Amino acid sequence: MASPEIEALTGALAKLPGLGPRSARRAVLYLLKKRETALEPLLTALAEVAERLETCTTCGNVDTTDPCGICADPRRDARALCVVEEVADLWALDRSRLFPGRFHVLGGRLSALEGVRPEDLAIDTLVARIGAGGIDEVVLALNATLEGQTTAHYLAERIERFPVRLTQLAHGLPVGGELDYLDEGTLAQALRARRPLA
Ligand SMILES: [Zn+2]
Repeated sequence: MASPEIEALTGALAKLPGLGPRSARRAVLYLLKKRETALEPLLTALAEVAERLETCTTCGNVDTTDPCGICADPRRDARALCVVEEVADLWALDRSRLFPGRFHVLGGRLSALEGVRPEDLAIDTLVARIGAGGIDEVVLALNATLEGQTTAHYLAERIERFPVRLTQLAHGLPVGGELDYLDEGTLAQALRARRPLA
């Protein structure tokens, strides 16, 4: 039986997505064995992120600066804006390096079942960003779920009065699939085949 401190660490790690009690225990054993090369750097990294964590007031990304690295990057195409449900979707698309523009994180999707209304999402700030001008294309990169598509149609109604090209990812995405779990090939194909929202 490990000490209460080690049990607490194992318990905390076991709650992380993708880890269960077995892999958490293996991770803890590894950290205890590699104190200088694994435990100390992890501790430093966690403390730094925890201390400097910020939500970008422009796009909703999570970073250690506000505006975030993407919003502050002058090489990004400011005329193209990609709308996603969650930060994880932004990171997935950004990892693919296929989209040269900036992002907007809604913070979820409309859901009658879960009582998520337009005012619960970052929709007013999205409309304000588009209304401020300088954007030519808005890409709706929402999940290919019923709620994701309901959200897309709602956004289309809100955005149609602006002179922007409105597109959405093609449905090469698996039905019921979530962006965060897709391989880069599928993501690339879906982004390339994006089309105007009817
Ligand atoms: Zn940002």
